[in-house]
Amino acid sequence: MSFHFKLRRLTGREIRFLCLLAIVAAAAWWKFAPRPWHATSTRSTAHFEIASTAQPDQIERVGNILELLYAAYSNKFSSVPTFQHTHPKLKVRLYKSRDEFRKVNPSVGWAEAFYSRGLCHAYFSDKEANPYQWMLHEAVHQLNHEVAGFDLEKWLEEGLAEYFSCSRIRTNELAVGTIDLNTNPVWCAMKLQRQQVLKPISPTATSSHCALS
Ligand SMILES: [Zn+2]
Repeated sequence: MSFHFKLRRLTGREIRFLCLLAIVAAAAWWKFAPRPWHATSTRSTAHFEIASTAQPDQIERVGNILELLYAAYSNKFSSVPTFQHTHPKLKVRLYKSRDEFRKVNPSVGWAEAFYSRGLCHAYFSDKEANPYQWMLHEAVHQLNHEVAGFDLEKWLEEGLAEYFSCSRIRTNELAVGTIDLNTNPVWCAMKLQRQQVLKPISPTATSSHCALS
């Protein structure tokens, strides 16, 4: 079977329409395409490889926090059959600031970090009480996918990420199950509660201990 197409000359109106379409597509691509980025240093920890433009001491702090997450996550899930006890280092891209993160990734919208194609993107900040929440959230997605081999329902995937990332960071551990009141949506819920927009559902609802454990 063969097909024969007869090409005809485009009209001026059609050519103008195609040119306009190409300009709109190019503008959309330029608006949302990731910008070039080059790390100024790279640091390896036991389980992560961090490429970054942040200061060396900031990269070291983030590396330590990520390892606390890894230890806490392993404590919970290392007995799962799909858990990979040996794996390539988990790749992290740590931007030096929120401005740089948003400039390089103009399509991120409201996200403060993201995990995509084997790379966890996050930025360093010392302006917040808990500047690690967003990167820990995304690192949990990375661990679910690359280490534990989980294929979870969306609610459980996000719930696990929140469970770990909203936990309190202590000197040598991520105290999983103890909520850090400086993480979102906890502080947001407390603010709404103070404004009496939200009411506690039980006398224990304001407890600093997470119901999950
Ligand atoms: Zn998530």
